[in-house]
Amino acid sequence: MNIKRLVKYGYLKTGALLYKSSESRVIYYHDIHDENSFTPMSTPMERFKEHINLIQENGYSIVPEISKKSNEIEITFDDGFRGLFENFDYFIDKKLPVTVFIVTDFIGEKNFLTQNELKDMLSTGLLRIGSHTKTHSDLDKLSKNEIITELKSSKEALEDIFGIKIDSLCYPRGRFTDTVVETAKNIGYKKQYSCLPGGYFEPFEEGLINRSLVQDTTPQEFTLILKGADRIFHKRYLQQHYHKTGEKSN
Ligand SMILES: [Zn+2]
Repeated sequence: MNIKRLVKYGYLKTGALLYKSSESRVIYYHDIHDENSFTPMSTPMERFKEHINLIQENGYSIVPEISKKSNEIEITFDDGFRGLFENFDYFIDKKLPVTVFIVTDFIGEKNFLTQNELKDMLSTGLLRIGSHTKTHSDLDKLSKNEIITELKSSKEALEDIFGIKIDSLCYPRGRFTDTVVETAKNIGYKKQYSCLPGGYFEPFEEGLINRSLVQDTTPQEFTLILKGADRIFHKRYLQQHYHKTGEKSN
């Protein structure tokens, strides 16, 4: 274990003492792979399966959408890489619901899911789709009109292609401002997924959803996060990813 990892583990141990709970939460990955990996952010299937087992062994249900205060987990994937499709049999076997946040300009590009692959997965009833914007730009650096374009055109494109209602948004690189939150609401996004660690029902603001990044966590780290330990990083993530509109972004 390297030093950085050890320090993080120490924080998680402390977080587990401070925030231990069985609160429902959203976890996120970027991709999964068996032999072919489509991004360095991808999680090996073997590790992903360990995570699923830990979720179930610890008494949580994996649900398409969280509705209960505790013991529910929502699994999400960002960006729309192809490994999800290549390994989707596992989701079918286990009947695992999953949400993928799609960047509409990336559909069908190298290493990314195609329209047909997404349609295939949708037809199983296990997949949900949300918007991850049109071009994956940092929303906190855009003008209001540019934000509108990113959020509106991606929503419309996904609704057109797949014939489904798109009402959830995930911020590229987790970055957002008050203007982003407000604009997204006005465009019709009911749920906005951040990368702020914490439970589902302790939102920073109505409609803004916390998520825990777990793609490279060991079984020990994952178990601590499952029980709320990464809440200890919430404030730091908030400072890094959110600023009031008008403040300079870093
Ligand atoms: Zn992303």
